[in-house]
Amino acid sequence: MRSRAGLLGIGLLALSEAACAPVARAAPPASTALTFTDDQLARAREVRDRALQDDTAYELLRSLTSRVGPRLAGTPGDAAAVAWALEQLRALGFQNVRAERVKVPSWRRGECRVELLSPWPQTCAAVALGGSPATPAAGIEAEVVPVTNLDELARIDSSRLAGRIVFFTGRMNRATDGSGYGRAVTVRSRGAAEAGRRGALAIVIRSVGTDRNRLPHTGAMRQDSSDTRIPALALSNPDADMLEDQLASGRPVRMRMTNTSSWADSTWSANVIGEIPGRERPRELVVLGAHLDSWDLGTGAHDDGAGVAIMTAAARLIGEAKSRPKRTIRVVLFANEEFGLSGARAYAREHAAEAGLHVLGMESDLGAYLPLGLRSRVPADRLPAIRQMQSVLAPLGVEYRGNDASGDADVGQLVPLGIPVCDLDTDASEYFDLHHTANDTFDKVDPLLVRKNVACYAVLAWLAADLPAGFGRAPAAPATTATPARR
Ligand SMILES: [Zn+2]
Repeated sequence: MRSRAGLLGIGLLALSEAACAPVARAAPPASTALTFTDDQLARAREVRDRALQDDTAYELLRSLTSRVGPRLAGTPGDAAAVAWALEQLRALGFQNVRAERVKVPSWRRGECRVELLSPWPQTCAAVALGGSPATPAAGIEAEVVPVTNLDELARIDSSRLAGRIVFFTGRMNRATDGSGYGRAVTVRSRGAAEAGRRGALAIVIRSVGTDRNRLPHTGAMRQDSSDTRIPALALSNPDADMLEDQLASGRPVRMRMTNTSSWADSTWSANVIGEIPGRERPRELVVLGAHLDSWDLGTGAHDDGAGVAIMTAAARLIGEAKSRPKRTIRVVLFANEEFGLSGARAYAREHAAEAGLHVLGMESDLGAYLPLGLRSRVPADRLPAIRQMQSVLAPLGVEYRGNDASGDADVGQLVPLGIPVCDLDTDASEYFDLHHTANDTFDKVDPLLVRKNVACYAVLAWLAADLPAGFGRAPAAPATTATPARR
């Protein structure tokens, strides 16, 4: 466990000029310079140091979680979040504040109940996965068949699955980079569809999470139009352990489940946008993204209220800086990341014609944890500028990690348009204890870590918006990226 006193020490002690050691270059050649001047780096350090004293983001997050709370796409909470965001951006002095409408799916959680009937009756803590159909009113009662993952499911004879409830037992591993998530989440995404195709009546999964709380983790399941739709629930990790212990007895385990979730017609939400205009080239943009929606069980404090607050506060600090950068900072609070990336896809579609004006994109969607690393996806001749940007963050403990940034779930949708991106890696080792659970609440957020995140994005955005030559076009992304690890 980290102590707050320790973090404060790191934040304030390490910022001496000597520690910064920027890789500055001599006088810039007009508008085509590929690197930053000493003066630009000094201004970025000023922005950084002000961010480390500023609680605007933390107070925004307090406001979002207390006044809006859960905001699943298409719900009244989502509409309240859009209204909240418009009001906050205007109050903080953003320009061109607007909501761009986005069509979103509409799924509502009902009540769910899971009971083990035999050999030893018990009730399990469970939640429906997002998108799960309801059970028949009388519920589904069947024998449980344990399966580790989708690979094992594919090897099992379908006759063993037909008429049964499949229990996916695979555990998510804790990791600083959150990489356990990408491996574990496949059963949440596709477990129901694959088990349904083989005749199963329903699935339960071990929660995709690293905690030992009796709080199940929800999250989206992916369904294609040709899939057989069967109910899909997640058990808390302790309940999954208990179910495994009953199965280990070798006796058949019978389960009864009921679930009353429902679907309605798609409805409207919005991407909320606000801008800090640049002083020389206001049509050119640096995008700071986060997602405004959340799951419905908690108040979406880390996921992704923190990102909303951090990016908004970072842009506002730039707006208040003594010298604004050449280009505009555009904050985009995306609609419905959690349940299909609706907002990011709509933004990429509707802003494709101005892709060339987007100089760089970044997204905060891995919780407000300790920043550890910077990744970029820029042409090779821009890497010296990226290293200068990292040098301003080095006193905060941020190292450079390579030119393989994904842009994350939402801003990653801009990479196919050739828009360069950067990722800020944070310590994700505790994030998946509360991700998509009722425990994702404001009290779990450390204000000092929020400040550090704001400082990092404010520095990166200020410098990116002021690099004379810009960042050109992004090198092509590989077919698979790290994106799923971050949702
Ligand atoms: Zn998220």
